[in-house]
Amino acid sequence: MQKKFETVNVLGLDFIKATQAQFLSQLTQDSLAHKNRFVVTANPEIVLAAKDDPKYAQTLATADYITADGIGIIKGAKILGEPLPERVTGYDTMEALIAWAAKNDKSIFFLGAKPEVLQKVLTKAKEKYPTLKIAGSCDGYFKDENKVAQLIKEAHPDFVFAALGFPKQEFFIAKHRELTPAIWMGVGGSFDVFSGMTKRAPKWWIDHHLEWGYRLVKEPSRFIRMLALPKYLLLVYRKKFFNK
Ligand code: UDP
Repeated sequence: MQKKFETVNVLGLDFIKATQAQFLSQLTQDSLAHKNRFVVTANPEIVLAAKDDPKYAQTLATADYITADGIGIIKGAKILGEPLPERVTGYDTMEALIAWAAKNDKSIFFLGAKPEVLQKVLTKAKEKYPTLKIAGSCDGYFKDENKVAQLIKEAHPDFVFAALGFPKQEFFIAKHRELTPAIWMGVGGSFDVFSGMTKRAPKWWIDHHLEWGYRLVKEPSRFIRMLALPKYLLLVYRKKFFNK
C-alpha cells in the first residue's frame, strides 16, 4: 500500500502522524473505495507487548495504520524528538465511524465483549443511529474462531470492530482480514464504554491527560497493568539517551 501518512517510530511501532480528523477522512475514503484495511490503536501496553513477543510485533507490522491511543505514546514521541499531533483513540474513531456509516449507508459488524455488553452496544447503536446497518455481531467468548470469521465473511460488512482486547484482536484481524474487504479495527474495551457498562473519564480528566488516573481510581485491579507506563517511559528515555 502506498503510504498515506508519515510515521514516527516509538520503540518499534510506526505511528501515523495524523490528527483524528485527518485519520477519519482517510478511513472514510478507504471505505468508499472498498479497501481492505487493518487499524491498530496502540497504547504503551501494546508497545511493550510487541517488544516482548516477536510474533505480535510481526502481526502489528502488517497493519495499514497504527494510531497513538494514549497520552504515553504522544509523550514518548515528543521525548524522542519527533512529536505526533494528537491522540487518535480507538473509542473516538469507532464512534465517529458509526455516525458516518449511518449517514452513508455503510454496515458494521460488531465483534467482541461479553454477550450482555454486546447486546447493549447493538441497542444503543440502533437507538442513537436509527439508519445504521448492522451487518452482524458476535460476542468475544467464542470457541471456534474460524466459524466467527466465516460469519463475518458472509455478512460482507464495511467495518469490523473487534473488541477482544489485545493481542487477541490484532491476531484475529491479521489472520482473517482477507476474507472480506472491510476496515478492520481493534477497539479494546470500547464496547464496554459505548454500552455504558464502563464510564469513560469525565472531560476534565481527559483534557488534563489523566484518563489513566481516572481508570485506576475506578478499577484498582488495573494497577499491575498500569505499571507498564513507568516501564515504557524508562525504555523511551533509554532509547533517547543511549539509543538502545
Ligand atoms: N474480551 C473478549 N474476549 C476475550 C477477552 C476479552 O471479548 O477473550 C473483551 C472484554 O470483554 C473487553 C475487551 O475485550 O470488552 C478488553 O477490554 P480491556 O479494557 O482489557 O481492553 P484494552 O482496551 O485495555 O485492550
